[in-house]
Amino acid sequence: MNIHEYQAKKLFRHYKVPVPAGSVAFTVDEAVDAARGLGGYPLVVKAQVHAGGRGKAGGVRLANSESELLQAAEEIIGMTIVTKQTGVTGKKVGKVLIEQGLNIVRELYLSIIPDRSSARIMIVASLAGGMDIEEVAASMPEKIIKVMVNPLIGLQPFPQRQLLFGLNLDKTIARDFSALLSRLYQLFDEKDCTMLEINPLVITAENQLVALDAKIDIDSSA
Ligand code: ADP
Ligand code: MG
Repeated sequence: MNIHEYQAKKLFRHYKVPVPAGSVAFTVDEAVDAARGLGGYPLVVKAQVHAGGRGKAGGVRLANSESELLQAAEEIIGMTIVTKQTGVTGKKVGKVLIEQGLNIVRELYLSIIPDRSSARIMIVASLAGGMDIEEVAASMPEKIIKVMVNPLIGLQPFPQRQLLFGLNLDKTIARDFSALLSRLYQLFDEKDCTMLEINPLVITAENQLVALDAKIDIDSSA
């Protein structure tokens, strides 16, 4: 079962994984209310559909004022979004996430997925966040770091250090990354996830690590 970004971010909050402040809106009026509740611009309007690639397809818009927000919400709610992952017929947008716009300095990639052949959990991280990970794997494989975790043992310090080293993070961010990864791993384990992906995981101008996007698949048979 694939859940929406705003639902995945709710789970992240529950596990103390930092996400931008935000709330979901089903209508343009609700979007304006949500924006007022967030108390300040810039804000971002994000189509909530079960597909990535929304940014490139016009499903993620930055708003610097209420009139820009209104316009973005009017255009996105009800639009049919077509991305690489929706197929040609696309997906109709029924709701949007209104969230705080962050000042992004670096975009990283992080995912946790089961590796069936080895019965291990694979953690994938990359310096090239915000891009299609398959494309990064094909054109810049050196930018991808993979570590395996034995689910019976759990996440150990050594693979954590391999990730920190590969991502070339400074000290404060490295500490935050370790805490974030432990919490994500716990979420992945407790919620029977079959996939968890953050693309991008960003470092902000204020030197904070924040999950800007959130994708989770849950094993609904569990
Ligand atoms: P998708 O993966 O479906 O394209 P994302 O949530 O990854 O959607 O957003 C696409 C891009 O939009 C991000 O890489 C980032 O550059 C920008 N973006 C998304 N959310 C925010 C935000 N809250 N603040 C600033 N920029 C954002
Ligand atoms: Mg994304």
